[in-house]
Amino acid sequence: MQIAADSVVSIDYTLKSDEGSIIDQSQPGQPMDYLHGHQNIIPGLENALLGKSVGESVDVRVEPAEGYGEFNPDLEQVVPLERFQGVENLEVGMQFQASTEQGPVSVRIKQVEGEDVTVDGNHPLAGQHLNFSVTIQAVREATEEEKTHGHIHASGAEGGCCGGSDEQSGGCGCN
Ligand code: ZN
Repeated sequence: MQIAADSVVSIDYTLKSDEGSIIDQSQPGQPMDYLHGHQNIIPGLENALLGKSVGESVDVRVEPAEGYGEFNPDLEQVVPLERFQGVENLEVGMQFQASTEQGPVSVRIKQVEGEDVTVDGNHPLAGQHLNFSVTIQAVREATEEEKTHGHIHASGAEGGCCGGSDEQSGGCGCN
C-alpha cells in the first residue's frame, strides 16, 4: 500500500541539523504514527513521503519554508527584567507563555543582559534546514472516525480515541 491522503503511516526517523547534530529521532521499536494529508507533520516531510511504501527509506532536506518557517526578527523583543518577577534563576533557553493580542505565544529567553531580557517567539527550528532520514514501517487506511477527527487513534489493547476513552462523550473525548 502506498502512502496517500488518509493513510495512517508509521515511520522511524532521524532529524539532523545541517551541522549533522541530531535534533530529534524516534526510539527503536517506537515509530511515530501520523495521519497523512491532515497537516499532522511539516509539509516538506509529508510531501516527500507521498506515494512511498512500507520498507522504503527516504532522505529529504526540508527548506525552512516547508518546515517550521523562516526566522522572523519581528518576533524577537526586549522586555524589562521586572516582567519576570518571581522567576528564580532566569536562564537562556527557558520557555514562557506570553499573552499577545493574537493570543498566547510560546517564547524562549534568548539573552539576559542587565535589566534587558531578549525573548524570541520563533519556533526553535525556524530558519533551519531539516535533514530527515525516514524508514516507513507501516501504512494502513484510516478509519472513518480518524478521518473525521484529522488524527490517528491508538489501536490495540488501549484502543479508543487518542489513547483513551471517555464514556461521557460517547467513547471519544477528542475533537
Ligand atoms: Zn479523535
